[in-house]
Amino acid sequence: MGKADLHVHTTFSDGVLTPTQLVARARAAGLQAVAITDHDAVEGVPEAMLAGSEHGVLVVPGVEINTDVPGTEVHILGYFLDVDSPRLRESLQGLREGRLRRAERMVERLHENGVPIALERVLAIADGVGAVGRPHVAQAIVELGAAENIGDAFEKYLKPGRPAYVPRQRFTPEEAITAVRDAGGVPVLAHPGASDRDECLREWIRAGLRGLEAEHPQHRPEQMAHYRRLARDLGLIATAGTDFHGPREGAPDLGDYACDLTTVERLRAEADRIRAAAR
Ligand code: AMP
Ligand code: FE
Ligand code: FE
Ligand code: ZN
Repeated sequence: MGKADLHVHTTFSDGVLTPTQLVARARAAGLQAVAITDHDAVEGVPEAMLAGSEHGVLVVPGVEINTDVPGTEVHILGYFLDVDSPRLRESLQGLREGRLRRAERMVERLHENGVPIALERVLAIADGVGAVGRPHVAQAIVELGAAENIGDAFEKYLKPGRPAYVPRQRFTPEEAITAVRDAGGVPVLAHPGASDRDECLREWIRAGLRGLEAEHPQHRPEQMAHYRRLARDLGLIATAGTDFHGPREGAPDLGDYACDLTTVERLRAEADRIRAAAR
């Protein structure tokens, strides 16, 4: 049975591999399918689909939208959405422009705190493609020698409560669910164990949520079992993904968390239903 890794980032957000490199690595890892789920960006999908047809890897068009709820972040994945939808691209671009203004403010605050990193350097690290964020600021801080590593930069400057933390413009989960469905995609809750908001699930299902990412590196084995069971009880599709950001010491590798291709087919069928209902 073929395997699919349904949570992967590329250079179009904060991943280190290009979509083409990513697909080549998926093939080398023996995966039959991979979903490209960049943060607030779908621009990497066309390149990945092209590489997928060359390598014989099924590329599922996807996205991961960061949203805000009181006290935590909730990430909504979208699968099989129309990445050319002008409305979708516009809303994601709006979220990313918010990120740029926020990067400017983080750099200002760092200057005020004796860490004179250059905004240009942060944008160069983010490669000008869009979803610039705290990981890129963190790397600039490390390069300047003001922190030992990325984690240290978050601890000292970038975590909530630290001097350079700036919250950013976000969707609510309901808004992200609607944006995904409007583009014909299937909304799935990413790493539900990380946000720990099970009590909101029924409300999100009413808004159109159709899946739960049960297997994810941040979930303990008992959480994976819990979310698989919850998905079954609530009639949701249980998915799996590595949240791969690139080959990194100690981080899970592409394909370490994967589901069967039947899950991909369920997502595709659900996307068909969502589109049919919209017509
Ligand atoms: P942003 O969306 O710009 O706020 O950045 C969020 C990203 O920062 C997440 O996807 C994580 O990859 C990374 N991140 C968050 N907290 C930490 C931390 N304490 N140490 C290292 N990376 C972190
Ligand atoms: Fe990320
Ligand atoms: Fe996430
Ligand atoms: Zn992710």
